[in-house]
Amino acid sequence: MKKYSNHIDFATMCVHAGEGVDPQTKALRRPIHMANSYELPTDIEELLEVFSWDHLDKFQYTREHSATPRCLEERLMALEGSEDCVVTASGMGAVAALLFTLLKFGDHIVASEICYTGTQKLMSVHLPRFGIDASMVDTTDLDAVRAAIRPETKLIFVETPGNPLVTISDIAAIAGIAHEAGALLAVDSTWSGLISQSPMQYGADIIIHSATKYLNGHGDALGGAIMGPHKLLADVREYGIVHLGACISPFNAWLIMRGLVTLPLRMKQHALNAQKITEFLASQKGVFRVHYPGHPDHPQHAVAQKQMAGFSGMLNFSLNIDLLKNFEFIKALKLIRHAVSLGHDQSLILFIPTVFFFEDMVQFDEDQKEKYSQLMGDGVYRFSVGLESPEAIIEDLSQALKAVGMGN
Ligand code: PLP
Repeated sequence: MKKYSNHIDFATMCVHAGEGVDPQTKALRRPIHMANSYELPTDIEELLEVFSWDHLDKFQYTREHSATPRCLEERLMALEGSEDCVVTASGMGAVAALLFTLLKFGDHIVASEICYTGTQKLMSVHLPRFGIDASMVDTTDLDAVRAAIRPETKLIFVETPGNPLVTISDIAAIAGIAHEAGALLAVDSTWSGLISQSPMQYGADIIIHSATKYLNGHGDALGGAIMGPHKLLADVREYGIVHLGACISPFNAWLIMRGLVTLPLRMKQHALNAQKITEFLASQKGVFRVHYPGHPDHPQHAVAQKQMAGFSGMLNFSLNIDLLKNFEFIKALKLIRHAVSLGHDQSLILFIPTVFFFEDMVQFDEDQKEKYSQLMGDGVYRFSVGLESPEAIIEDLSQALKAVGMGN
């Protein structure tokens, strides 16, 4: 399913791509270069090479481009099979760098209405301040995507799986719609953990990741990545990173690089755990709407089966209790942490009351609110299933369900 369809190759890339022997010390790890600036050549030809985006092994200043982040870029390019990669300070750094590079006054984009709240606000509040219009639609509905296209549409931006409701959008079908309209398709593939989804294989032009999540995997560094054609990414580097400044720290790049070594192993375990926990939750009294892309009850399970190789570790569920009782459930949890973020080694849970969700989704009209309140009830739990044993996670959920009078 991946470009490296032989699984051994993919695992090998996670260990070796972008890594190498340090020429000076012969250490089997490239060093972390915590330097802001690099000595410049005095030869004019060599100097021009340093200043060009065609010589990405030459460096001048860390905001522009630097050695340790380049190792991470090389590893991510190998894993996604993309022509180039730009790493950024955070996932939002990647989203903003892409949008502010590609779009100009008068342009229009179509984007997933269910997406990370920062992305949603950037699109529906900030882009319009610069004369760029965003239509945020339900991208699980292909007719809604088609209907939103305008002559000035430059980009379709899809988040799949979508945060926080694990919505799955059909990448191949939306790539067809985008290209027919002369637009590009960008996919925020963060929730897939990279290994479970190859958007380029389905026609996406650009892939975004918050590397803070599964790519790093250990909850200790922020980062982001944009993958796509070299020419486009040269513009992103210059405008999105050099001018807007969302460059990654070399130390964070190194931490993410180290996290990537175990990505295939981690994603396999996240998915196994999430599948077991979905089955457990679906069997419990008082639990409703357990949504996991790998479960037949997920509304877009068929699309997920088509385009995902493994279903990652994110799921959603709701409990048949009132708002305050939901907080008692959270309080009763002992192992699972109540926290934002996701894709960490630790299991993280976030209760999202529907009223708070609507306050956040500033672009929602009354019809959208009606649609999502039917789906969400009083609120949903966004659950990033961690790497603890599934038995330990289930035991924790079970005792917390009992504490609020639910469960079997
Ligand atoms: N994209 C998705 C799908 C996310 O879930 C998030 C954060 O949760 C982001 C982007 C933003 O990433 P970061 O927190 O690294 O800026």
